[in-house]
Amino acid sequence: MEKEGYRELLTQLAHTEDLSQEELALLLACEDEEITAELFTLADEKRRKYAGDAVHLRGLIEFSNYCRKNCLYCGLRRDNRSLPRYRMSIEEIYTVGEKIARLGVKTIVLQSGEDLSYDARSIASLLHRLKKLGVAITLSIGERTKEEYALWREAGADRYLLKQETFDEQLFRKLHPDDDHSHRLACQKILAELGYQVGSGNMVGLPGQTIEAIALDIKSFQRWNFDMIGIGPFIPHPDTPLGNFAPDRKKQYLLTLKTLALTRILTRDTHLPATTALGTLVSGGREKGLQCGANVLMPNFTPLAYRSHYTIYPGKICLQEEWGKCVACMSMMLKELGRSVAQDHGHRERKKAPAEE
Ligand code: SAH
Ligand code: SF4
Repeated sequence: MEKEGYRELLTQLAHTEDLSQEELALLLACEDEEITAELFTLADEKRRKYAGDAVHLRGLIEFSNYCRKNCLYCGLRRDNRSLPRYRMSIEEIYTVGEKIARLGVKTIVLQSGEDLSYDARSIASLLHRLKKLGVAITLSIGERTKEEYALWREAGADRYLLKQETFDEQLFRKLHPDDDHSHRLACQKILAELGYQVGSGNMVGLPGQTIEAIALDIKSFQRWNFDMIGIGPFIPHPDTPLGNFAPDRKKQYLLTLKTLALTRILTRDTHLPATTALGTLVSGGREKGLQCGANVLMPNFTPLAYRSHYTIYPGKICLQEEWGKCVACMSMMLKELGRSVAQDHGHRERKKAPAEE
């Protein structure tokens, strides 16, 4: 396609804030530097219009790296025997949560592998106590039953993050030997019905992933009206079946940023993190992400003794940062970008029901 054709697509995008899957694929595949820069500028404008200049900090506690699942891409997968495993006690998690709240961070994200050793009731009582600290709580602990989701919602959980990783069903099947595409989406539906703000997302640069599949992801984010969407590059982990895959980093970086930018424009006011994986792929990646549509950062509050064992992917940044230092570092980063730290909880008002699939 000629440059003029891409320009027309960008003009249409600016006005309608929508494109078809085919049109999205054209822009994702376009390698013209000027067109790419114009797309990023447009996403930045829409971010300012719909999400403002303030950036929400979501304080992350990675409380267990045990996992019952075997996702092909992930270092925490069950069959990775070379990973030292850890589990924080409920009391330990609470103590870290208390310190996060004291720092003024308004959201605590509790993340782990799918670890069934924490029973639903002890998680519920933890949530109940954490809520008294005046924070919002996001859970990111995988697929559980409707009853468990309901119990945790009642106990005070506000949000749930369950990334689809890819909306290409065939690719999903290849990557997830013990998961089912429609079951994961059914969980999303239940979570939304229970009143959670729900989060999805994808990985960009997965082996076998086409540009069309990424365009489908973006259309699906829009259709499902998710409240948060985590978009990050896939980073191969040597101790997984995908360890030998070597993506072209520069291409993957640009493709991830374009996915982020287009998602911002099509979904308007959703919460989009500048992911740690993006900052790991390329130094300064999170800063760039914040200028291409992102409005969320996730400082890591996992105690140092455990942090280096939460190796979903290798080379993760901030593994040695002293506890709590991430917040100071992020405040500096935001100041340099002319942005600020949000002072509110950063909830998203749900405007319409999620799409029926
Ligand atoms: N067990 C939970 C949460 C922990 S995994 C779950 O799966 O929902 C958190 C996220 O890490 C996943 O959603 C996935 O997007 C990301 N992830 C896993 N392996 C990765 C890799 N190799 N590169 C980049 N991100 C990865
Ligand atoms: Fe477990 Fe989540 Fe990793 Fe899959 S992505 S292996 S569910 S921690």
